[in-house]
Amino acid sequence: MTIGILGGGQLGYMLALAGYPLGLRFRFLDPSPEAPVGRIAQRVTAEFSDQSALEKFANGLELVTYEFENVPLEATKFLAERVPVFPPPATLDVAQNRLKEKALFHKLGIATTAFAAVYSIETFDAAIRTIGLPAVLKTCRLGYDGKGQWTLRTAADITRLKNELADSLADAPNENGAAPSSDTAPFILEQFVPFTRELSVIAVRGRSGDIAFYPLVENRHRGGILRLSLAPAPSLNAALQHTAEDIARSVLESLDYAGVLAIEFFECEGRLLANEMAPRVHNSGHWTIEGAITSQFENHLRAVLDLPLGSTATTAFAAMLNLIGETPATAEVLAVPGAHLHLYGKTPRPGRKLGHVTLCADSFEQVMSSLRNLPAFFHQPEFCLDSESSISA
Ligand code: AMP
Repeated sequence: MTIGILGGGQLGYMLALAGYPLGLRFRFLDPSPEAPVGRIAQRVTAEFSDQSALEKFANGLELVTYEFENVPLEATKFLAERVPVFPPPATLDVAQNRLKEKALFHKLGIATTAFAAVYSIETFDAAIRTIGLPAVLKTCRLGYDGKGQWTLRTAADITRLKNELADSLADAPNENGAAPSSDTAPFILEQFVPFTRELSVIAVRGRSGDIAFYPLVENRHRGGILRLSLAPAPSLNAALQHTAEDIARSVLESLDYAGVLAIEFFECEGRLLANEMAPRVHNSGHWTIEGAITSQFENHLRAVLDLPLGSTATTAFAAMLNLIGETPATAEVLAVPGAHLHLYGKTPRPGRKLGHVTLCADSFEQVMSSLRNLPAFFHQPEFCLDSESSISA
């Protein structure tokens, strides 16, 4: 049985590694000849818009899934006429646009920060008047790892940004000649959330509707990029976990979803505000490879194949550190008790996710002590080992 995966990065790589013991084969489609999955699976190197490549890619596949949510919707629709595609392509339409995502949360009664569509200088000014400062302007599409985001604290920040974005904020009709509107807005303005911490939940829904959840995880970012996840989140209470599960369940059911879905939250005065969702396996779920009975990767495959879901119970307390731009010496990491090293086989480049390390232990205190005892490489502010650093971007 061969599974097709759109996107050939580390998430696809880890999906394949989880699928091989289940007897699965994989075929990947990615525009980059450097995609790391090339080391371990069949890879078709083509643009997502290349219909003849899509046709060949789909030939003989059991189903298609994706590891990257910015796959063009058209490509998934084209494939869905030939082979089942999970999660459903309609999910991508929502997840590719921050405004549609927030509108869905709103419709489902899920709390978010205040937000408004921005598609001209006038709507930018109106949004600032309603939302106030500080605020964050984000591109609705194609923003990731903190790219396409501007924090606004002062009137001078607003003036500077208006100049920088003058072309995109020009009140011009779109390419179809339609007047700009909130449906096609290129930006969203959000109230800046003075959060206590960031959390995420990884949920999985099978094709027959079974749902399972991993415990909430605490995520520390720097420069908009995830650096450290602690699982389960420290001081996690049952009420917060239930709220996250209720939110994830309503999103999964509203989309008739199959696969893993991640939802990221801000915890603010004990409340959860939904920030965004990812219709795929997620960086904040990498710890599940060693820290849970069934990893998010295996559960995603089980879900899309209509197989029974695996237990999401934890087997350890875990900390996951992303290796960004550079990697430590392998021997130094492997000398740490309870440390697991994952290298994705990518060429090092600043800001690039090259691998991760998961530390597992029998208690939260032991995980924290292992973090403190990591080799010198990890004692840089980027790793957010002390909670203070998580707030500063
Ligand atoms: P995002 O791409 O929306 O996940 O944003 C990347 C990171 O920027 C988040 O993980 C937060 O650390 C920060 N951030 C995004 N939106 C807001 C907001 N409305 N208020 C405060 N911080 C934010």
